[in-house]
Amino acid sequence: MTPRPSSVYGPVDSWRFGRSLGVDLILRGSVCSLNCVYCQLGSIQEVTAGRRLFVPTGRVMEDLAASDWRGSGLVTFSGSGEPTLALNLGEALREVRAATGIPTHVLTNGTLLGDPAVRRDLMEADRVSVKLDAPDEAAFRRINRPAPGVTLAGVVEGTLRFRREYRGHFDTQVMFMPANRGMAGALCDLLAQIRPDEVQLNTPRRAYPSEWFLEARGRYDYSQAPARLHTLRVITREEADEVERIIRERTGLKVSSVYNGE
Ligand code: SF4
Repeated sequence: MTPRPSSVYGPVDSWRFGRSLGVDLILRGSVCSLNCVYCQLGSIQEVTAGRRLFVPTGRVMEDLAASDWRGSGLVTFSGSGEPTLALNLGEALREVRAATGIPTHVLTNGTLLGDPAVRRDLMEADRVSVKLDAPDEAAFRRINRPAPGVTLAGVVEGTLRFRREYRGHFDTQVMFMPANRGMAGALCDLLAQIRPDEVQLNTPRRAYPSEWFLEARGRYDYSQAPARLHTLRVITREEADEVERIIRERTGLKVSSVYNGE
């Protein structure tokens, strides 16, 4: 009999967060309010900004009990799409933290931060990372390919609101590609308003699968992937250093980069 897929995976090693256990509140297929051109899940199967219950919290706790969680330094809610789409995010964060004592972390694209219920759920996390790749609506549509009705203005407004309310560690993640390499200066204006505790620069150095498969969550070796792999053009170490310098000088923020983190 095939084992049922688990909503808990890893732990996986990350240059940004060390050894981290993954929690997937989506689990069946990929569901996200964006469809980023570089997504490691492949082309998103359901692009929606509507919240609903995907995996009941009881099931997450059963999967957690059966997992190898004890060696992890962090529990990251990410998985098969946008975790804030899950209506039980706050409850799951609370219960996982209580059961393990390990700090929790949510990777979000920020598109639902205008919703007070989403912001309340995220208050339960010890750390929140919000994506920001584009300084204007045209670049946002080109790179992040949002669900209907989702705008960069909405993301920024929700992020600023959340930033004012949240007391945990807050960082902003930026994926740089040749398509937005020249936009570092414009992004600085937004970053200076948001003032994250840290800006993390990344570039899509790993091939990404054409479509979702369960092991795509947190997995970086796709040599056995059942889907076709694509590669994207990246920015070089020198270009990343230059972007890092621009952001640091213009905003005074702490910046870390994939090239210096590995
Ligand atoms: S926000 Fe994350 S999960 Fe959603 S499409 Fe972009 S990279 Fe993929």
